[in-house]
Amino acid sequence: MFAPGSADGFKSVVGPRWDEAAAVQYDATVTLCRDLMRRFRIAADRVTLHGETPGEATLCPGKNFPRDSFFKDMRRA
Ligand SMILES: [Zn+2]
Repeated sequence: MFAPGSADGFKSVVGPRWDEAAAVQYDATVTLCRDLMRRFRIAADRVTLHGETPGEATLCPGKNFPRDSFFKDMRRA
């Protein structure tokens, strides 16, 4: 679970209110990802961040996205 205000979180981007919103957005992102994986039978090792997808030339979702937490939470049974 993403901890608001954690060192790898979003707090440093904009401030405390954004941090609160980001935690809700983070949880929604994990929930949506898990739902899509279940419905379309997508294996966890096939999920990539946009900027880490082969052929993509974006940095999205950015260096402040809690990548490690996301992949851990996304794989949670
Ligand atoms: Zn993107």
